[in-house]
Amino acid sequence: MYISQILSKSLEENIMDKKTVLVVDDSSTICTIIKNELTEVGYEVVTAKNGIEALSYIEWMEKLPDILTLDIDMPVMGGFEVCERLLGGRDAEDEKKQKAARIPIIFVSANDTIENRRKGFKLEVIDFISKPFKRGDITRAIDKVLNPEKEFLGMRALVVDDSAGVRRMIKRLLARNGIEVFEAQNGLQALQLVENQNEPYDIVITDYFMPEMCGDELCRLLRQREDMKQVPQFFVSAFDDRDSTLDFFKAGASDYLRKPFIEEELQAKIEIHLRAKKYVNELEKLNKKLENLAVRDGLTGLFNRRYFKDELDNHYFQASRYNLELSCILLDLDFFKKINDTYGHAFGDLVLVQFAEILMKRVRKTDIPARYGGEEFVVLLPNTSIAGAVNLAEKIRVLISNHLFSDGMSSTHVHISAGISTLKIDKPENSDKLVSYADAALYIAKEGGRNRVCQYENTLSPSDH
Ligand code: GH3
Ligand code: MG
Ligand code: MG
Repeated sequence: MYISQILSKSLEENIMDKKTVLVVDDSSTICTIIKNELTEVGYEVVTAKNGIEALSYIEWMEKLPDILTLDIDMPVMGGFEVCERLLGGRDAEDEKKQKAARIPIIFVSANDTIENRRKGFKLEVIDFISKPFKRGDITRAIDKVLNPEKEFLGMRALVVDDSAGVRRMIKRLLARNGIEVFEAQNGLQALQLVENQNEPYDIVITDYFMPEMCGDELCRLLRQREDMKQVPQFFVSAFDDRDSTLDFFKAGASDYLRKPFIEEELQAKIEIHLRAKKYVNELEKLNKKLENLAVRDGLTGLFNRRYFKDELDNHYFQASRYNLELSCILLDLDFFKKINDTYGHAFGDLVLVQFAEILMKRVRKTDIPARYGGEEFVVLLPNTSIAGAVNLAEKIRVLISNHLFSDGMSSTHVHISAGISTLKIDKPENSDKLVSYADAALYIAKEGGRNRVCQYENTLSPSDH
C-alpha cells in the first residue's frame, strides 16, 4: 500500500473516530451556535428540533451519538420525556436500546430551577447548563465526559518531514491530543526553529531521509544542546534495515516507527514518550521551586543570607584575582521598631516587602540584592566602583524617602541609612571584611543622623590610613 492510500484511509478512520453530539433544541439559532462551537473543536454534530426527532435519529442513525445536549421545553416532546423514553430501553432485549439508555445527557435550558435539576438528575442527566450560556461552556461540559483528561494539553511538538501529507496527518493526531504543533520541511529548518525557540519543545517527530539535512544529523545536533537533551526524538521512516535503525539510535533517537504506519500505532508510542516528558517537566518545575526556596527569603523574595554569602565569596575571589571592582552596600531602615510599634507587625512586613520591590527594580541584573537580617539589606555590586555604588545608594535612599508606604488604611514615610565599602579602596583582607566595613560605615550613617549614605573610607580618621 502506498503512503497516500494509508493517509486517505486514516483520514476516513479519523472521521469515523470523531465523537458525535446530538444537539436537541427547538431554537434553530441555539442549534447553530452549539453546532459551530463543537464542530470547531472537532466534534461531529447532528441536530434535532424536538424530542420525537431526537429519538428517531437515535433509532435510525447507524452509530449512536456519544452524548446528547437536550433542551427541556420543546413542542411535540420535551426533554424530560426524551430521558424517560431512553431510560426505558435499559431493560429492553434490543442491544441498541440498552446502549441508547446509557448515552450521557446534558441539559441546556433557560428553565434552570432546583426542581428541574432534581428531576433531571433523577433521570441520570449528568450536567445542567443554563441559558444563556457562554462560548466554551458546552465544549467544556462535553470534554469533561468524552475527553476526561486532555493529558498532554499545552505540550509542544516539532514535526519534521518533507512530505506535507505526513506532516498534516501527524499534526492532526497531535492536535487531537491538545498538543501545539510546529512544522519543518527538513532538518535544517527544524534546527533553525529550535535555535529561535522561546520555550523548548516536548517532542521531536522526524523523518529520516530529507533534502538539506537528514533526520539522524538533526538528531545528533539537537542532542548536543542543553535544552534538548531530555526531549524525546522520534523517528518515522520507511527504512527498517538494521543499519538504518542502528543509525537512528546511535544519533540519539528515543524510538522509531516504520512507515507506512497507522495512527493508532503512532498515538500509542507517542503517548509513552510524552507521558515521560511530562513527568520530567514536572520534576524540573519542582526542582526550580525548591532551588528558589533554598536561596530566597520567604517574605521579600530577595536572596537570603546564605546565598549571598556564597556569591560574596565567589565574587570576592574573582575580583581580587583579576583586579576587578567590587562594592557592597548595606542598608538599614531607620526607626523601624517604631513603625512596628505604631502600625503593627503586619504593616511592618508590608513595608519590608515594598522596600524590597523598590530595591529589586533599581538594581542591575548582575547585582545581588539580599535580605541580610530583619530590616537590614545588602547589595553586592560586581564591576562597580565606589562612585557607582554611592550613586545607586543615594538613588535608593531618595526613592524610599519619597515613597508613601501604605496598606490602604495606614500610611507613612520611611527612611533608610546606608554604608558602603569597596574592594579597591578599602582593601578588605577577606570577603567578610567587605561586609563588615560596610556595616561600620552604616553605623556612622546612623550616628550622623540617619537618612544618609556613608562610605567606609570616610569613617576612618587620618591616622587609620
Ligand atoms: P535604627 O534606625 O537604629 O535602625 O532603629 P530600628 O528601630 O530600625 O532598629 P532596631 O534594630 O532597634 O529594631 C529593628 C526592628 O525591626 C525590631 C524588629 O522587631 C523589627 N523586625 C525585624 N524583622 C522584622 C520582620 O520580619 N517584620 C517586621 N514587621 N519587623 C521586623
Ligand atoms: Mg533599623
Ligand atoms: Mg537593624
